[in-house]
Amino acid sequence: MTREGEDRRAFLRAGAALAAAPLAGAALASPAAAQESTANLAASEVQAWATNDTSGTFAPQMIKRRAAGPKDVVIEIMYASICHSDIHTAHGDWGMPTFPLVPGHEMVGRVVGVGSEVIKFREGDYAGVGCMVDSCGECANCLADREQNCLNGTTFTYNSEDKVSGGVTYGGYSKKVVVTEDFALRIPPGVDLAGFAPLLCAGITTFSPINHWDLKPGERFGVIGMGGLGHMAVKLAVAKGAEVVVFTTTEEKIADAKAFGAKEAYLWTDEEAMKKNMGSFDLMVSTVPVAYPMQPFLNLLKLDKTLVNVGALFPIEGAQGMPMGFGRQSLAGSMIGGIAETQAVIDFAAHHGIAASYELITPDQITEAFVKVVNKEARYRYVIDMTKA
Ligand SMILES: [Zn+2]
Ligand SMILES: [Zn+2]
Repeated sequence: MTREGEDRRAFLRAGAALAAAPLAGAALASPAAAQESTANLAASEVQAWATNDTSGTFAPQMIKRRAAGPKDVVIEIMYASICHSDIHTAHGDWGMPTFPLVPGHEMVGRVVGVGSEVIKFREGDYAGVGCMVDSCGECANCLADREQNCLNGTTFTYNSEDKVSGGVTYGGYSKKVVVTEDFALRIPPGVDLAGFAPLLCAGITTFSPINHWDLKPGERFGVIGMGGLGHMAVKLAVAKGAEVVVFTTTEEKIADAKAFGAKEAYLWTDEEAMKKNMGSFDLMVSTVPVAYPMQPFLNLLKLDKTLVNVGALFPIEGAQGMPMGFGRQSLAGSMIGGIAETQAVIDFAAHHGIAASYELITPDQITEAFVKVVNKEARYRYVIDMTKA
């Protein structure tokens, strides 16, 4: 590890510990509480909602959670939201998953057990888990706080090889998760916990390009597609002071976009608008979860600017070399963000009073919610209330 890397990580950890201290919730008040806390560190069987084929039908199923090690926290999941990736994975769009599949990589809950060496959390704190639960921690990318790009293979939150316990990882559609504290995020008290769950994927996925391409106040920022990711992109960019413009395929979302703070919102089919916006954007993100011809949107970029695809993890369609060359435009990809950056988006959202717009559902509604997301009926995230399980 470089000296600078060591310093940064030490700083992050110290900052986390300091920030966590005043948030500490339930101190152990009685021997009974102490006993319960120790019991929470043991390996357990917990209730989950799983699918066993690509139909996207969910039913309760028990899964195993490992005993918490010295650096692990045990989180009782209160809210888990449904990301379109959960649906792609469950349907086998990205290859056949391992069944039973327990998706969920946007979860928030209460810390109910902490290993002996944990410094960031105390029992009673709120914590979140996003798309990753582990990485090597030693490669160049991990040392640069890019755990999502770990050269030795990131452990994703579900349907990923579980390098600690063997088998595959199980996600947030469950009552409890055990995770190393390095991959748990601090959720400040007083925020809308259900509305913060979607920050763990949708929030960081859109925040990361805004940061990396350094969107500045007053700059024109285009959001293509306004679902779970897109609506977070709008809220975050508005809070950054950018001039946000939304392109949607759904008429009713035009008013919503403006309510979220977008200056303008258009239908994709609005040819006048496409003409008027030519060469006007400093940055665009595409959050559409399927492939579509991108050149009409690339045409909307200013000279030298970038369209970042965070939605469609499929072959890119319809980009044309000639106009891209003339405008020296870039078409880029980006995927979630590192742990430090994920903490940054949580803190940014808390500071600006931003949360996802969501509809609360119970676990027995997951199957139906998957269908509604595909049919673009979600406004804008379905959050599963795990306390109702
Ligand atoms: Zn996601
Ligand atoms: Zn690594």
